[in-house]
Amino acid sequence: MIIVPEKEIATLLGRTESYDAVEQVFAAMAAGDAYNFPVVREAIGHANALYGFKGGFDRAGMTLGLKAGGYWPNNLETHGLINHQSTVFLFDPDTGRVRAVVGGNLLTALRTAAASSVSINHLARKDAKVIGMVGAGHQATYQLRAALEQRSFEKVIGWNLHPEMLPNIANIASEAGLRFEAVELPGMVEADVIITITSSFAPILMSDHVSNGTHVACMGTDTVGKQEVGVDLITRATVFTDEVAQSITLGECQHVVAEGSKTEADIRQIGEVINGTHPGRQTDEEVTLFDGTGVGLQDLAVAGAVVDLAVERGIAIEVDF
Ligand code: NAD
Repeated sequence: MIIVPEKEIATLLGRTESYDAVEQVFAAMAAGDAYNFPVVREAIGHANALYGFKGGFDRAGMTLGLKAGGYWPNNLETHGLINHQSTVFLFDPDTGRVRAVVGGNLLTALRTAAASSVSINHLARKDAKVIGMVGAGHQATYQLRAALEQRSFEKVIGWNLHPEMLPNIANIASEAGLRFEAVELPGMVEADVIITITSSFAPILMSDHVSNGTHVACMGTDTVGKQEVGVDLITRATVFTDEVAQSITLGECQHVVAEGSKTEADIRQIGEVINGTHPGRQTDEEVTLFDGTGVGLQDLAVAGAVVDLAVERGIAIEVDF
């Protein structure tokens, strides 16, 4: 069995490798070569923790396994650890033997940023110049860095419920040599691409905050009850997702489907666009929207890439198990 500790991930996996792994697995999902298992997520009744599993099998990439982990709200204060904790376990699809244990914390941030990047690459207008960020927490910094590589952006605009957090994303813009401007939500009409990445339980970004031709990547809603954008915006947009089943149950589309203004059939997998079986954006006026719910196969894809790199570079820890 191979172990790749959390501390090695940053030196092994960059944004390019994460992008490639996630794009490939989205393509495999849409081709019917890869599928996710039902998600388990439970309040364990201890330490206020939410714990669960996301797993799947990718026959194209021969990756089988699961990510186990969740959210421990008191970790930072009480233990000096980050609140989100996860570990990926990979198994040999031919025998069922455990193949690898991989630290999953940074991987989660990288694979989530890769997902919105894949959506921007395939759905945003080629001439996109202004990117808008709704959210400025931990994940927002990864989202923005990865997104900036997809188009020749000239300016970053941002809104956050807690304005004192905006320097997190302003610093990323500045590192990239771009102007940053804090805006109110109606100011988002200037953006050609918008990423929402908050832990909101009520709509923030509404249809009249978004101009025609914009691509919106909704990345924060990964749980029943969460919501970042108005049903009016989703109703107006051409909607794509990582996995339709997750999108309508725990993703941003749970609300539009419950309200009845879109059905499951109106929501397409981003993998179809990658595979060329769906045209994706068809006009410069269309609003496209990606509901990135976060699937287990994304975690397995980046973990598989890490294991290969760790073995290649001689830093994988091998254990006789
Ligand atoms: P964080 O705690 O670092 O940041 C939270 C962000 O949400 C901040 O910008 C904060 O100001 C904002 N926020 C908090 N309460 C809000 C409210 N009521 N209304 C509007 N904004 C509010 O968290 P993070 O690690 O950046 O994660 C952000 C979200 O992304 C979480 O909901 C998390 O579950 C989700 N997430 C999704 C995926 C995925 O694959 N889709 C992966 C990782 C994280």
